[in-house]
Amino acid sequence: MISFWSRILNLVSPQRCVSCGLRLAPGEDIVCTKCNLRLPRTLYHEDPYENTMATMFWGRMKTERCAAFLFYSAGSEAGNIIYQMKYHGHPEIGVKMGRMMASEFMDSGFFDGIDLIIPLPLGRNRLRQRGFNQSAEIARGVSEVTGIPVGKRVVSRTQFRESQTHKGRWERNENVKDAFRLEDTERISGKHLLLIDDVATTGATLIACGSELLKAEGTRVSILTLAYAKS
Ligand SMILES: [Zn+2]
Repeated sequence: MISFWSRILNLVSPQRCVSCGLRLAPGEDIVCTKCNLRLPRTLYHEDPYENTMATMFWGRMKTERCAAFLFYSAGSEAGNIIYQMKYHGHPEIGVKMGRMMASEFMDSGFFDGIDLIIPLPLGRNRLRQRGFNQSAEIARGVSEVTGIPVGKRVVSRTQFRESQTHKGRWERNENVKDAFRLEDTERISGKHLLLIDDVATTGATLIACGSELLKAEGTRVSILTLAYAKS
């Protein structure tokens, strides 16, 4: 159902598809129907233990389930969505994409038995610069659909490091290794956690954060990202 007010708002300031830029029709949100159909879905949630993304963690960190919603490459539909969200100040895109992803994953059992959602924390400088943590926004959307609570201040990012895009895989690993600190061991002991981030590339950041979570006794970690970039 589209509310009266959102209809009025849409007349005054028409929403545009974040992927192709065309006007959205009533009932469409974030992306138009045509772009939505073309979004490159990974379908990893249908095989959350042995998909390409899951194998990336093998031997590096113990994970339960792993999935990403879309395949990512710069300039692709998923790339545009994430770019708009992060660099054009649209946290609501994160929330809505989180909702969309969770709705599509719900029936697969991907969320079964998960106790707590942990958004990957952003460094303080980056948070100040951007004004929001995209992972926390995605997490909020996932939480709304699944009813699984979001754990805040469970883990923190201890340092801000330079952009990692020009570094090699192992160098990147080094760079983020000590970047996270567990703040609330009690809250997560014995729990199955879902660590959420926007994009997974080498997995280095997720591993650094996830390994910190695994320091608490009896925790298990599953991983969910909006997009996965094959490295
Ligand atoms: Zn479109």
